[in-house]
Amino acid sequence: MWFEEIHNGFFKQAVKVEKKLAEKRSRYQTIEVYESKEFGRIMVIDGHGMLCDKDEFIYHEMIAHVPVCTHKDPKRVLIIGGGDGGTARELLRHEGINVDMVEIDEEVVNISKEFFPQFDEVWSNPRFNLIIGDGTEFVREAKDKTYDIVLVDSTDPEGPAEGLFNKTFYAHINRILKDDGIVVAQGESWWIDMPLHKEIMRVIGDFFKITMPYRFEMYMYPGCNWNFIVGSKFYHPTADIILQRADLIDNLKYYNSDIHISSFTLPTYVKKELGELYKW
Ligand code: SAM
Repeated sequence: MWFEEIHNGFFKQAVKVEKKLAEKRSRYQTIEVYESKEFGRIMVIDGHGMLCDKDEFIYHEMIAHVPVCTHKDPKRVLIIGGGDGGTARELLRHEGINVDMVEIDEEVVNISKEFFPQFDEVWSNPRFNLIIGDGTEFVREAKDKTYDIVLVDSTDPEGPAEGLFNKTFYAHINRILKDDGIVVAQGESWWIDMPLHKEIMRVIGDFFKITMPYRFEMYMYPGCNWNFIVGSKFYHPTADIILQRADLIDNLKYYNSDIHISSFTLPTYVKKELGELYKW
């Protein structure tokens, strides 16, 4: 038995799986969990691999620690999406940080609690606040200058996540971030979908002085080469890295200060394609 993911109708990758452990049709999407020998448990939403035991640490460490080790003193962080709990687990490693997480689909949280025990410590942490709701509505209602960092840990721009990729959404992100705030968004992939990657760069770049992509490898994602995009009002993600913080986080498996800095290097074809969208 195989779990196959087809990307944009032109690219297919497949993982050998032993069995399907769960399938749940929620109000918003279909969530599945597979068991596999090589990748461990795999969470799939609407046919797209979200995370698996083998490499979830890469995605979650990279979305969280890059902005946290760039900002001088982050205290309040908002996650939009992120229902599995992985991004929150990484943020909560930093003692001074409080996390609000707005996830639209409670079933993602329930499935994660049942099948992914590595996120267990998140759900009862007193510094963690889960809000079940639509991220677009939450940011519209949130007060000005509330957050130091916002992380958009969303699915692809279809279904419930469609509204998390447009200008209205980022105008609110800009408004609810403090004057030295940072946003990091799941930036799709410059390798497999340059037009979509550029579109997200453009939308974020309309509001943030510094707009830079960084990369990480994710074996579960089509093509393996994937990107986050950072938008920053003040701090520079490589020049302002706080080395003492970056290399002193306990129990990490991927992130360190060398990875932080090197993940921002761009291949020449990407530099050319991004042109003025790359604001450093
Ligand atoms: N890292 C994953 C990836 O890109 O493959 C995404 C992880 S996480 C499971 C994405 C979450 O975003 C999902 O649980 C989904 O329900 C949530 N989501 C989608 N649209 C949303 C919205 N409008 N507001 C809040 N959460 C949303």
